[in-house]
Amino acid sequence: MSSSDPVSTVIESNRAPLEAFRTVRLHLGMLPPFQVEELRRRSDPYLGFRDEVEEFQNEFLSGVCTRKCFSSRASDCCNRDGIAVFFADVVVECLYADDERIDLLCRTLEQDRGGFKCAYLGPEGCLWRIKPIVCEMFLCDHAMKSVLDPDPLLRGRWEDLRSRERQYTWPDRPVLFDELEGVFLQAGHESPLMYFHRSPGLLRVKARSMPRS
Ligand code: SF4
Repeated sequence: MSSSDPVSTVIESNRAPLEAFRTVRLHLGMLPPFQVEELRRRSDPYLGFRDEVEEFQNEFLSGVCTRKCFSSRASDCCNRDGIAVFFADVVVECLYADDERIDLLCRTLEQDRGGFKCAYLGPEGCLWRIKPIVCEMFLCDHAMKSVLDPDPLLRGRWEDLRSRERQYTWPDRPVLFDELEGVFLQAGHESPLMYFHRSPGLLRVKARSMPRS
């Protein structure tokens, strides 16, 4: 956090993501353009995957979500306690979103005063361009039961997307989310959001996947 921030003005839960946005933006701004392009090139397959998930959500789930939650404003999806942001979510957002959006996200975190709903939930929906992966892959029980359970083919397509998600986020093999954290760690940056290098559970998964000599 910059020294110009009186710590007391940013609520505790927003400090780590705010610091991560600032760190990533600053670091990317200092890299030569070809290195930023290289990070985008490595992330592009993930963006393609996210497009496919979004298409699936738009085609099969947006109707039920709009009816059940958005219109009635009863949504439980975007509550504050339900969200987890990985450092790599922040890196991907900074690689693909424009400066205005990153400014908006930082301002939102600075000005947020807490409450039940997620800080990033604006009047038109999520403020992220590429929302955190945990949010993207979350389906409530109602959506599961009313849309996916009655249609095994559709359910199979969703399960397939879920298993493809693991190719980017489950470190029993080299995965993008771990790799992006590593890039910033090697450059001397640290963040509580670097779960792939800090979470005992994920570290165990990584250790188990190491080839034994
Ligand atoms: S980040 Fe976006 S999608 Fe995730 S809980 Fe917050 S508003 Fe909802």
